[in-house]
Amino acid sequence: MKGTTTVKHGYLVDMDGVLYRGPEMIPGADVFIRQLRARQIPFRLLTNNSQRTRRDVVAKVARLGIEVEEEHIFTSAMATARFLARQKPGGTAYVIGEGGLLTALHQNGFSVVDHEPDYVVVGEGRTFNLEMVEAAVRMIMEGAKLIATNLDANCPTQHGLRPGCGAMVAMLELATGIKAFSVGKPSPVMMRIAGDELGLATDEITMIGDTMETDILGGVQFGFHTGLVLSGGTRAEDLPKYAYRPEVIVDSVAEFTELLDQSGWRPLWSTGGGERRNGREKRAALPAIHSA
Ligand SMILES: [Mg+2]
Repeated sequence: MKGTTTVKHGYLVDMDGVLYRGPEMIPGADVFIRQLRARQIPFRLLTNNSQRTRRDVVAKVARLGIEVEEEHIFTSAMATARFLARQKPGGTAYVIGEGGLLTALHQNGFSVVDHEPDYVVVGEGRTFNLEMVEAAVRMIMEGAKLIATNLDANCPTQHGLRPGCGAMVAMLELATGIKAFSVGKPSPVMMRIAGDELGLATDEITMIGDTMETDILGGVQFGFHTGLVLSGGTRAEDLPKYAYRPEVIVDSVAEFTELLDQSGWRPLWSTGGGERRNGREKRAALPAIHSA
């Protein structure tokens, strides 16, 4: 790589646990996003939560002080709808989910129906009842394919955990004996479609997230660079139990701003051997997980 060449690089940034926790922005998240935009660095904010539309997500993060446009948002609902539109153009779906999922399916040419659907699609939401579960079980037994937007077992809220999409899907799987196909992180389906949105090669993309099982696993499997923040669900002590590891570990996204600022926003970890640099960036040097 020539010294004067601008490094082409983009970021997929998980939201919950990276940019905010519950109703509060993680300090520095606004600055990080502002810098990405000011420097015209391609990025998408990624979420496995299929409840909200792009516009809803823009409004939610704006309330916290983070300014983005709809084009910057990428949800598992969008990934699911685009995936299904390629699998079966003009198909039909029975949906257990909310606005984000319904909107994405409509925008991708799907009809939402309540009998003989091609697919039963389950997303995040709170409108779930046992009648819907019963209807879904019957449809699956009659041949509808079971699709999950994501398999997160629970979601953090300000009052503790609530059951996530994965928990609802487990009920359908158990009742029918049929496994769901899941599209959200860590599925390569979502990683690939999100990566395509940036128009960059896999080696030119870093996935930043707080969850080893989704963000980091998905990034590692798909060949993206990976950065773990410890501001969400993962603690440094948890890391030795994983067989895979992120390339860079920081306390919070604010540290990425510092790291990237020092390097002219060239990602240290993508140029090979960030840990061999001049010592200043030792935060990027994968501390303490070689014992795994
Ligand atoms: Mg997260």
